Amino acid sequence: MISLLSLRAARGLALAMSFSCGLALAGGGEQKTISVTVETRTGGSLTGLVVDHNDHGLVIVSERVPYVFAWRELVGGSAYQAKKQLLELGKGGASKLGGLDHFELGRLALDLDRADIAAAEFRMATDRKGSLRKRVDAAWKKYNASIQARRAVKDHASGAKLLSSGETANQDGTLAALPDDDVRAKVYQSYLTFGEKVRETLGKDIQLLETDHFLIWTDWRKPDHAELIELCEAMYRSVCDQFGLDVTGSIFLSKCPVFSFQKKARFQQFAQKFDGYGGKDSVGYTRSIEKNGHVHVAIVRQGDSALDRDRFACTLVHEGTHAVIHRLFSSTLIPHWVNEGYAELVSQRVLGDRCVALGNAELLARDYVRYDWPIRGLLGSSGPIEVHQYPTAHSVVAHLEGLDAMKFRVFVGGLKAGNDIPTALGLAYDGMTLAGLEDGWRAWVRGREAGRSGPRSGGKTADN
Ligand SMILES: [Zn+2]
Repeated sequence: MISLLSLRAARGLALAMSFSCGLALAGGGEQKTISVTVETRTGGSLTGLVVDHNDHGLVIVSERVPYVFAWRELVGGSAYQAKKQLLELGKGGASKLGGLDHFELGRLALDLDRADIAAAEFRMATDRKGSLRKRVDAAWKKYNASIQARRAVKDHASGAKLLSSGETANQDGTLAALPDDDVRAKVYQSYLTFGEKVRETLGKDIQLLETDHFLIWTDWRKPDHAELIELCEAMYRSVCDQFGLDVTGSIFLSKCPVFSFQKKARFQQFAQKFDGYGGKDSVGYTRSIEKNGHVHVAIVRQGDSALDRDRFACTLVHEGTHAVIHRLFSSTLIPHWVNEGYAELVSQRVLGDRCVALGNAELLARDYVRYDWPIRGLLGSSGPIEVHQYPTAHSVVAHLEGLDAMKFRVFVGGLKAGNDIPTALGLAYDGMTLAGLEDGWRAWVRGREAGRSGPRSGGKTADN
């Protein structure tokens, strides 16, 4: 009865995968590397060899599978330990670290909300290099300002339109008018009934926020409502813009139900009771029913720090994009790598630096190209992909979209019309084959990498 389009596992660790190529490092030379164990903020951990790292994050190979993590996705202490080991490896020992190294470690710790570690590293930085005092002061100033800004957002009253217990949409004149279409009106009413059932089952503190395109049931506190609303609508605008849709209309059967919780237990309860899904290893999912076009999103925000909020925002935009794509042109489900890659692309577009997707995609793609790891299996598949493959899918989708946005529109339209990937690709991109796509993508990644290392070398890069 139900088909699940996407059960997004926790941003972190997928275990099984058929990545069977060798990980021989190019160039034949010996590469100094180390084994590290990292812990993700969503509760996973992974041990493996580091094959690449930069300001954004690191690539670890475990059991022949490459995983990319942004530093920000890791538990502060574990990111700091890994970065420190890598710096020591590069310099030839802990005692060889200079003031700048300690400064960088302190800055990473601050980014990850570990002021305790930052204080110790900054002290070592200024002990070794007194002239770093100004930069240390500036780093603290920036950190304190970000905490202040976060507080200000919390204190900001929400402009959300609320439906309190017992009210229905029709009794509230401030709500958007129902669509004329009888079906839409019926679906809308059935969603309100469904939401009420969720409240009865899970708790009456769950409130309904209604936006132009979404019915958001949430137990978030009121000061956070505005952000929830803005994220959903910003995502909607972005996808409408991509596909030339009228943003004032609604692509959904009526409006898209979103269930946003602040506790994992309640999120899991919802997943189990209403979607028959465990939800244990997940922080959000989209439930899409191909037959009748229904789609809803369920999501949890664990934690309240700036990093937790950023991660939540990325997941919300990602899942919301799946919901819109499910409704785009037809309710046909599209191949997973295109779907996941595009959801990551929209997250990055809507959220910019708050989202780790772009940095992850670029870092992992350069290793796929550098070591000639294959992607043909991914490109030819239409079934579910693992979370650790999302950055690669993102990179390929970004390449296709960047080639020609109109062709990309035709490509997705072809998939929604039921064509397989080679057919849709050939039709949209003047006969392009999967092999042609892979070759083009590798050349594109190489070109971007060359462009990046050129003008930026020697320059200071901002990593947050
Ligand atoms: Zn997804």
